[in-house]
Amino acid sequence: MHVKKGDLVKVLAGKDKGKQGKIIRAMPKENRVVVDKINLMKKHQKPTQQHPQGGIIAMEAPLHVSNVMVICPSCKKPTRSGHKFLDNGKKVRQCKRCGAAID
Ligand SMILES: [Zn+2]
Repeated sequence: MHVKKGDLVKVLAGKDKGKQGKIIRAMPKENRVVVDKINLMKKHQKPTQQHPQGGIIAMEAPLHVSNVMVICPSCKKPTRSGHKFLDNGKKVRQCKRCGAAID
């Protein structure tokens, strides 16, 4: 995946299109990510011992990775990420706009 947990991303589709948020969970197998406070869904919570009242809670629904774009920490713009190799051989993601390493 081109994004991972902790990345700041811009949402490209859906009801929160245009908003930005941080990835709080990545699901590489499904190519989906959960972004903090984005794509909130109301969910009916059955009463449990911890929450005897039950009720409706809001929680983030996963987004497909194709619907988010990573925001470069260097130029602060949404970008497609490429890859480059550091001198030590480590592979890092690279901003295609400004060339800065994203990791
Ligand atoms: Zn950049």
